[in-house]
Parts: sequence; C-alpha cells; structure tokens
Amino acid sequence: MKNINLLMIILISIFFIGKCWAEEVNLYSARKEHLIKPLIDIFEKDTGIKVNLVTAKSSQLHQRILREGNNSPADVLLTTDAGNLWKASNENFFQPINSSALNNRIKSKYRDKDNLWFGLSLRARIIVYSLDRVSKEELKGYKFLSNPIFKNRILIRSSGNIYNQSLIAHMIAKYGEENTEIWAKGLVNNFARDPAGGDRDQIKAIAAGIGDIAVVNSYYIINMLNSDNKDMFNSLGIYFPEDEEMGTHFNISGAGLLINAPNPNNGKRLIEFLASDKGQKIYSNINYEYPVVENIEIPNELKNLGTYKEDSTNIYEYGQLSFKAIKLADRAGWK
Ligand code: FE
Repeated sequence: MKNINLLMIILISIFFIGKCWAEEVNLYSARKEHLIKPLIDIFEKDTGIKVNLVTAKSSQLHQRILREGNNSPADVLLTTDAGNLWKASNENFFQPINSSALNNRIKSKYRDKDNLWFGLSLRARIIVYSLDRVSKEELKGYKFLSNPIFKNRILIRSSGNIYNQSLIAHMIAKYGEENTEIWAKGLVNNFARDPAGGDRDQIKAIAAGIGDIAVVNSYYIINMLNSDNKDMFNSLGIYFPEDEEMGTHFNISGAGLLINAPNPNNGKRLIEFLASDKGQKIYSNINYEYPVVENIEIPNELKNLGTYKEDSTNIYEYGQLSFKAIKLADRAGWK
C-alpha cells in the first residue's frame, strides 16, 4: 500500500512537472522571422514559455485563421498596419485583453478602443527628395503634394499597397472623403510614372532621375543607409510631412489575442513582453521602427532621420476607413 502511494505521488509529480515544461504559446506573425526571433528567444528564456512561430504574409495568416475557425491553434496574431489589424478585428478574430500594463504603457491612440489589438511599433510614411531638384521650402505636408508644381515629379507605389491605403484613410479622417478624392486625383496627375515597385524602388528612381519626390516608410530609408545604396543619399533629403492641419502619418505594427486562443494567458504575457522596456528596445533596434512606448532609447539611425510632429488622429479612426480608401484610390485612377 505504501509503495502504491509513493508511486502515485511520483506519477502525479511527473504529470505536473511535465505540464509546467509544456507551457507554450502559438504566434502567427506577419513579421519576418529575423525581425521577431531575437525577441522570442529572450521571451522563452525569461518565462520558460515555448513560442511556436508561424510566419507568412498578413493576408495568408488572415485566410488561415478564417479557415481554421474555432479550431485555430493561434494564440496571438502579430501583423503590420492599422488596416490589417482593423480587418482582423472586424472578422471577430480577437478577444479583448484586460491588462493594466498594456493600457498604461500604450497610448490610447495606438490601440483599439475595445482593447482588441495593441500597437507595438511605429513607422512614419515620409518623403525622400532630390536635393538638386527640390528645395525644402517647396515641401509643405501631404496635402500640398497634389499641387501642380509637382507635375511629373512624384514617386509612390501602387494604391494596392496597404501603406498607401492607410495614408489615404488617414487623409479621409482628417479632411473628409470629398477633399481627399480631389487630393488623390491631383496627386495621380503629378505622378512621375505609373506606380511600380516597392518603397525602396521609389527612392532609387529619384537617384535615376525619374522623379524628384518619393513617399516611403521610414525604416526602408535606414535599411538602404545600412546597405550598398548608402552613397545614393548624398544627394537625397529626408522630410517629415507636416502642415497647419496634419502632422506626420505614423502607422503601427501590432498584435491581438485570438478569440479561441488555447493559451490565452501566455498570449497575453507575450504581448506584454513586446510592450515592455526590454521588448520595445530590442524591437526598435532590430527593425528600425519607433517604439510605441515613450522614453525608450532609440538607435542612432532613427535619431538621425530627424525630428517630426506626429499627427494627432487616433489610429483606430483611420484603420476602419481602409475599405473607403481603396475605393477612393480607384476612382482617382491611382493604379
Ligand atoms: Fe514594409
């Protein structure tokens, strides 16, 4: 009898130790593995929670979660852009997270109003221009880019890209749909060429003399400055758009906890870690985005880009306008 009791105690202990070791969290990430892996390694080491990482494009993860339905093993969806986060919350992917750490650290303008998703890093959509052909005084915010003085001089990628959809959505939130459509038509009239390539290609097209002003995400500039393309920037300037009405457009990368998350507590802990001082600092140093939490030391590359006045619009407000933005861009003939 004594031996049987002892055996039971041993078996129960093994079960609980095994369970403790089996703590895990399933992360679906639209961020590339090399951008997120260093953070995962530290999270695993600090918490003992194993992170099972699935990486794919944002649209692929969205489809996968839809397909998996209630049986989805996903705990956390990490993706870029307010538009993508809004689409996910619109499909009821997320459950609200009740976390004083997240609420205290992340300003309400960078998270969903019902706490269904939280911004974790910021990227500015800014301007690179030819120092030879553009004087800085000519640049007066986003709205002014539709002015005919920029005829055949503007370089920007297609409106099929979510970065532009979010910029247009932000303009709608700021100026209304009608004014934004007039603006978009003027902008299209000023295109140096039909939209082609990604953000980096727009910068290269200035260097090649195809156009004078490119609209790009901030981290691409740093990636190019850290590459063989560095010398190109000897003749290029960087400008954070701003006028009396609208400051610089910042977008987010962010995450939400899935509604059927099998490991909701671990999912919450992972998101809290990404918003911690440690997480924010590493995140910013790997991907050259701005921290979403205030007073985090940023890398010199980011400091050197320049100072800015961020627009005051709540990201939630324009995230939900992305469908309107797509239709508006179509009407304006923005390919
Ligand atoms: Fe990008």
